[in-house]
Order: sequence, then C-alpha cells, then structure tokens
Amino acid sequence: MVKDFDAKLNEYAHLLVEIGMNVQPGQTARINAPVACAPLARMCAAACYDCGAREVIVDWHDDFIEREKYLRADEAVFFQYPAYMKAKWDWLLEKKAPNLAIIGEDPELLKGADPKRIQAWQRAAGEGNRAYYDAMTASRFQWSIGAYPVPAWAAKAFPELPEADAMDALWDAIFDVCRITGDGKAVQRWREHIATVARRCEALNGYDFKSLHYTNSLGTDLTIQLPENHVWQGGSEASADGIEFVANMPTEEIFTAPQWDGVDGRVYAALPLALDGNLVTDFYLDFQGGRIVDVHAAQGEDILRHSIELDEGSHYLGEVALVPYDSPIRRKGILFYETLFDENASCHLAFGSSYPTCVKGGADMTEEQQKAAGLNQSINHVDFMVGTADLSITGLTRGGEEVPVFVNGNFAF
Ligand code: ZN
Ligand code: ZN
Repeated sequence: MVKDFDAKLNEYAHLLVEIGMNVQPGQTARINAPVACAPLARMCAAACYDCGAREVIVDWHDDFIEREKYLRADEAVFFQYPAYMKAKWDWLLEKKAPNLAIIGEDPELLKGADPKRIQAWQRAAGEGNRAYYDAMTASRFQWSIGAYPVPAWAAKAFPELPEADAMDALWDAIFDVCRITGDGKAVQRWREHIATVARRCEALNGYDFKSLHYTNSLGTDLTIQLPENHVWQGGSEASADGIEFVANMPTEEIFTAPQWDGVDGRVYAALPLALDGNLVTDFYLDFQGGRIVDVHAAQGEDILRHSIELDEGSHYLGEVALVPYDSPIRRKGILFYETLFDENASCHLAFGSSYPTCVKGGADMTEEQQKAAGLNQSINHVDFMVGTADLSITGLTRGGEEVPVFVNGNFAF
C-alpha cells in the first residue's frame, strides 16, 4: 500500500495540470493516456475543468491492442498515415490546445516485433503529425508529460518484488521524484525548484560557451560545439502566447542544442536505453563532423542502428543536457526504464531533432534557417544517458578561457 495514495494521486494530477500544462480559462485541453492509466487521466481531466478549461479531449490507447497490431496487422498499415488522424492534429493545433501525455507502458512492449514495421510506422507517423510536433517542440502551445505505473513496467524497474509491491515501489518513486508528499503543496515546491533551475541557466548563458569537452573513466572523450546564440533552458518555458509551462514532469535538466555538425569523438552510455520496446546496453557512439560514424552495443545494437538510420537527421545530435549526478532521481538509485525519469538521472545527449527554442529566435526560423543556425532536424529524438560519477565537462568560452562546468559528475558552480 502506498501511504495516502488518493491524496498523492490528486496532488500529482494538479501538478501536471497547473504546473505542467498550466491550463488557462477557456482553453481546450487534450489528454493522451493508456486505458490502464485511466484513474490519473480522469483526475487530470477534472483538474483541467477546475482551471476553467472549455473542453477536455481524451485520446485512449492500449498496450495489448498495440502489440497485437505490430504482430498481426497487415504490413501495409504501417506505411500509411490515416487522413483522419492528420485532421485531428490540425484541429488541435489550430486551437493551440495544451497537451498532456500520460505514459505507462511495458518497456518491452514491442519485443519480437519486426523492426521494419516499427521503423515504417515511425516514419509514416513522423511525417503525418510533423506539423503538430514541430509546433510542440517550438512551444507554440503548452504541453507536458506525466506517468502512471503499469505492472510490466513496475516489474522491469523492481524485478525482485512481487507485482503489487513493485507497483507500490514505482508509485513511491514517482511521487518522490515529483516532490509529492500528500500535503497538497507540490505545486508550491515546484515553483521554488523552477526558480533554482532558472538561476543556473542564467549562469550558463552568461558564459556563452563555444564548446564543451566531456571526459570520464568509461572512455568518453567528446567535444561538442555549441551554436552561436544558443540558449540554455530548463524548468519552465513560455508558449508562443507567453503562458509558462513545464514540458516534462519531473525535470532536473538544463539543456541546449549542439552545433549539429560540430561533434567529434567517442561517448559511452552510462545507463541502458529502453528504445522501441527493447533494451540497448553498454553502447558507445563515435562522431566525426557531427555525424555518428560508428556504433557498438553489447545488446540491442540492431535496434539502436535502426533508430539512427530512421532518417539523415538521426545521425546527428540534437540535445545536450546537464543533470547533476546527485539529482533526486539518481539518488533514488533505480533505473525507471522510462526516459521521462531516467533522463533526469544523468547528463544526457539525444540524437535526432533539436528544440528550435535552443537558439535565439529559432522558433520563428524556417527549416533552412534553423539548420544554418546549427539546429538539427529529424523526425526522431532519442535521449541516452552519459553522466557518470566521474564525468568532467569543461567549457571553452569564445574568448578562449577554459571553465569547469562539471567536476565529478556535478555542477562546478
Ligand atoms: Zn533532455
Ligand atoms: Zn531529449
């Protein structure tokens, strides 16, 4: 049993809706949730109406049906994106509807599914909802992501526990890292946390680094150039209409975009990566002129390669994120097998798309302008963890000064 579960779940719903989405009176809100996560989705819908939402649209999906489709549907369905789904995205985009995705799925949902089908659907869906997701990553409307444990996920994170205990342990962990105690004050605690992150961003933006150099005892030796006019951000951001929101709940990271063609060297993963329903372990990536030129993984190498080969942009980095090794999530000492949490455990990089807002004025640039400004473009975005307890990151300023950014896995300032 999780102590005060109902109070905590309600606190979580209000945190997602008030701090995450920050739903404003009169807005149409959209929630995307697996049916297994219905209790939280319902509380979130109610919380949206508490905030004065005009209407709450809920889209449901289901692990079992998803897996059956990948295993048994006609191959052709993975290659075509239905027009009605595209029309839905256009409708939501026109309304600038705040979006909440509640995630809760079997981390190995698609194990054994044909990678060709996975890739085909990602490509079709990536093109079909591109306008919507481009608008989302450019923060044209508010959006957020929360989570809800399901047994297969809990079993992955706590393999030594029986199902009910594993579910409780995962709930406890989620509430903990989201700063939810059941006292109803999570919203207030998050306002304070966001202010702390904002102060660190300001310091990084003040340095205006030309490049970052990563080293650790795993063998990482990677240089990442940063675009001129790059912007470090974290905590909250503002939508095009100036409404503050928090895109990931929880979030500990401070991130920017790398110069897409300015990455050289080798980087080792610090943690396994749950990718397309599979696990990739003990891997490294080699870069030359920004491009991934070699990949090796102890397990799941083909899955990793397929993801990198999804499109040309997947061969390049799109995100550089700094997370202290002593973040609440790493202190928890567990692997969640879910990027939403695990990416907050560690410094990470992502191959695939950049967030346009990571360069000044980037959200208003055309694709060509974004690329010229250093931003990478892709229908893919895959975060992988690189932060170890001994990670060093040294910044080089445009004036040629070397500044320690990370020492022994934590911020040097
Ligand atoms: Zn990130
Ligand atoms: Zn990312």
